[in-house]
Amino acid sequence: MENRIFNEFLSDFMQHNIVECPNCHQRADVRVLDDLKYKYVNTSTSKITCLHCGYNKTLRNGSHFESLTLFLTTTCSENTLWALNETHLQWLEDYISASHRTRPLSSNQSLASRLPQWLTSAKNRKMVLKGIQKLKAKLKD
Ligand SMILES: [Zn+2]
Repeated sequence: MENRIFNEFLSDFMQHNIVECPNCHQRADVRVLDDLKYKYVNTSTSKITCLHCGYNKTLRNGSHFESLTLFLTTTCSENTLWALNETHLQWLEDYISASHRTRPLSSNQSLASRLPQWLTSAKNRKMVLKGIQKLKAKLKD
């Protein structure tokens, strides 16, 4: 664990997004139907489904990113902590709680190298982990 290399990209987590249902404001799921390894998100087609009210719609050209609100968001002091889905949230928790972080040397495009400073600073670690727990609880509701 200590030597884990956090070389994931945000796009690795983008196939699935948990959002607020535009109809009932509960959790809804967006699945990107195109494989984002081969297609840019802004030209992709996705489908939103809400298990609470049955809302469902096909969204084209990445429009879910503009028109929908992420479900997993919480405020950490004056900043917003957000995650796309469970896996992304777990990744964040692993990264923030890892005492020795190894960033990939070959790339500065990775998710780890692009996290905002407030999120990774040692003095905020407790607060951020608390925020992550809050978001995890939201998933269980
Ligand atoms: Zn709904």
